[in-house]
Amino acid sequence: MENIQKLINGESFLKITRENETYLPKETTKISSMTISIYGTGLIEFIPDNHNDKSTILSCAIHGNETAPIEICDELITNIINGKQDLKCPTLFIFGNPKAMNIGKRFIDFNLNRLFTGNHKNIDDCYETERAIELEAVVEEFFSKYNYSFKRHYDLHTAIKPSKHEKFAIYPYCPDREKSIEQMNTMEALDANIILFSTSKATTFSYHTSSIYNSHSFTVELGKVHPFGKNPQESFIRTRESLSQLLSDQLIVSHELHENVVKYQVQLSLIKNSEKFAFHFPETTENFTLFKADELVYFDGEKDCTLGEDLRIVFPNQNVVIGQRAALFVKQEN
Ligand SMILES: [Zn+2]
Repeated sequence: MENIQKLINGESFLKITRENETYLPKETTKISSMTISIYGTGLIEFIPDNHNDKSTILSCAIHGNETAPIEICDELITNIINGKQDLKCPTLFIFGNPKAMNIGKRFIDFNLNRLFTGNHKNIDDCYETERAIELEAVVEEFFSKYNYSFKRHYDLHTAIKPSKHEKFAIYPYCPDREKSIEQMNTMEALDANIILFSTSKATTFSYHTSSIYNSHSFTVELGKVHPFGKNPQESFIRTRESLSQLLSDQLIVSHELHENVVKYQVQLSLIKNSEKFAFHFPETTENFTLFKADELVYFDGEKDCTLGEDLRIVFPNQNVVIGQRAALFVKQEN
């Protein structure tokens, strides 16, 4: 049976993706009020007959073990197909790393979220470089077909670390564009009221779509990693509800910045440059933990280092490969 027919019969896109981790044939079907297209494993597009001009990409599983956003997207897909979810936007869903998803790992060979904006060309061929090429191509096709002035891409993640702020969003570096208050308020509506402003170019998926397509893009962190079926459902109620309203074009956000929004600027992106690199704090340190200016924070391979100003840490990972980011240090803006 063709896969879209399986979806119509009630099978989940997550199940079909997991059962076809290497290949899913392209397929397009017109149903009552929309056109459904599968572009490959983990790639499905919905175009309502009467759609608005808000091209929307929701991606998840760029890191395979980050299951909560996968379950949220899968539920939205199921509800679009069975008619429970009203859809107004041309929408592309992406399950980024199906092979890693199937073994409950962050990635197979290489961190996929360091391979966009063409950085896959600089890395030896592997599963994730192939996947980055495939994802870049499907995004290019989607944003070319639905090339409206309003584009958005929310790349949904969960974090490895516990965090003082459970949910937060990263606003990619876009020096030539004004930051969108409506978009920050949308993040607030998704429950990610903490916004981190990136201050440099990146090779992440959200930076890719933001820098190439002028899309309103965010990396959205929705909490902590749990296995499939073990996610605390109650902590995603507002996120689910707002994503649902966004797809049915009923999410109303103000033009004035919401009072709950807290802004952080990235002050330092710490790169690991030595095998001897090590942090001076335990693995259990939470995201957004504050370090004092004169506190010893890390050993750079030659000497112990302080930050020189009070900063909070996000995404510490001393096990990254040399040349990759070991941590971000951020400072509250307002
Ligand atoms: Zn992630």
